[in-house]
Amino acid sequence: MKIKFLGAARAVTGSCFVIETDKARFAVDCGMHQGNAQIEKRNWNVKIYEPEKIDFFIITHAHIDHSGLLPLVVKNGFHGPVYATEPTGDLVKILLLDSAHIQEVEALTKNKKMQRWGKSADTSPLYTIKDAEAVAGLIKTKTYNNMFSPAEGIKVNFQDAGHILGAAIVEIFIEENGTTTKLVFSGDIGRRHQLMMEDPVFIETADFLFMESTYGDRNHKGEEESLEELFEAINYSYSRGEKIIIPAFAVERTQEMLYSLYLLDKQGKLPKDLPVFLDSPLAIKATEIFRAYHTYMDRETREIVKNGEDPLDLPQLQFSSTTEQSMRINEMKGSAIVISASGMANAGRIRHHLRHNLWRPGASVVFVGYQAEGTPGRAIVEGAKKIRIFNEDIAIKAKIFTIGGFSAHAGQNQLMEWLHNFKSRQMKVFLVHGELTAQETLASLIREKIGFEVTIPEYLEEIILQPGAKIQEIKKPFEEEKPRIDWDTLLGALEAKISYLKERKKTITSLPVSKQIEIRDALQEADTRVDDIKTDV
Ligand SMILES: [Zn+2]
Ligand SMILES: [Zn+2]
Repeated sequence: MKIKFLGAARAVTGSCFVIETDKARFAVDCGMHQGNAQIEKRNWNVKIYEPEKIDFFIITHAHIDHSGLLPLVVKNGFHGPVYATEPTGDLVKILLLDSAHIQEVEALTKNKKMQRWGKSADTSPLYTIKDAEAVAGLIKTKTYNNMFSPAEGIKVNFQDAGHILGAAIVEIFIEENGTTTKLVFSGDIGRRHQLMMEDPVFIETADFLFMESTYGDRNHKGEEESLEELFEAINYSYSRGEKIIIPAFAVERTQEMLYSLYLLDKQGKLPKDLPVFLDSPLAIKATEIFRAYHTYMDRETREIVKNGEDPLDLPQLQFSSTTEQSMRINEMKGSAIVISASGMANAGRIRHHLRHNLWRPGASVVFVGYQAEGTPGRAIVEGAKKIRIFNEDIAIKAKIFTIGGFSAHAGQNQLMEWLHNFKSRQMKVFLVHGELTAQETLASLIREKIGFEVTIPEYLEEIILQPGAKIQEIKKPFEEEKPRIDWDTLLGALEAKISYLKERKKTITSLPVSKQIEIRDALQEADTRVDDIKTDV
């Protein structure tokens, strides 16, 4: 059999692994490529998935970097079943609709801009709400530990990955020519002792393991203090009559926040007269799904539910679905907790709450998730004095809290611990779902401490999997992608333009002052860009 890495190879996003046996062709995950423009271009290249030739998909969990391209493959000819756990099935449906909505709005905005500039408006969304709806009918759900056979000679089993609700580690048994080969896909491995979620199941055997490595080079800090820090933030703004703003991803992090507030309430640390608003239609829908699947949560949570309580509810919790309800929060005087999306403050309603509160001394903003480079969240966390929201510079006078202990991913130590439990000494490990530096660190650690053979596959790489045999690569990656660039012409042209400007220095100095300043700024900007390139090379 062979495997092709169509994403999450030397990158975190775009998780998709296509496996071809003598009887079937299927894929584990169908994630969206996210990050910079170069990576996002891959989303448009759906042909290389050959969707019409895929018999079925297995989805490890609902996160968009694992499920986000399903509408596109369906639109392009895939019509087989999509296997997932029950909560994943439900979460995927709402997340894909939300993703499609974002794609549609983005295309519309871009087209309007083009029209204003007198250019042709021909941007179409990656996929539409209708495309997302078409996925729902293909989803077939399974529970954990319930082996099923999606095709002849193939058996699949989901185990709890402890990452988000319904997240699975996938065990795949493939029979070819009388021998059975076992593949294990870790999906995203959860952090142990996470609120609500069970710890990831230890798997003991595999011939080939495909393991995530997001935190391959670091551990999480301050897991124990997280609840205490949240209390501190609440206390700080409650005593000053100001609001506590919590940007949080709609799935998992939001529910973890509600759970944390429930725990603080139990400890008598949550003021009874402090309203809590959940201000995100998607997060509200996700919370309903979480409430429906307590059986997928850890023992502590199930105990709480058994005692007739709901750890995702509070007496003072209010859902605001409509825009009017959302706006009313900002008109309201006094302290309140507002949980809203997006988690990195780059989209969604959270931007309105930040605009209304960031400049207020006494207010607080609590970051509880990863803040990617280039997002407003990252800038605020890094200590920006002001931030641009809706074309307005907002001063930052609120107190900023960054709580690191809420990650849904295992850190380096926990990844190693999980790996240590494998008893198959001949197992070959492929590291996926991680940045190369994190992967290289983890790979050396694995080789040194456990002695497994480790490979870090590249995007589009294709490999033959044969137990006991040396790893054999069929195809060098990037063949289609290798850019053809005539560097001499390019650099020559740039040089010529600089000489041209030099020759006209006199003309430039005779221009009006405002024009000269404009030119100076443009040149300085160009200079900075060239500096960036210099750093790269
Ligand atoms: Zn995930
Ligand atoms: Zn992921």
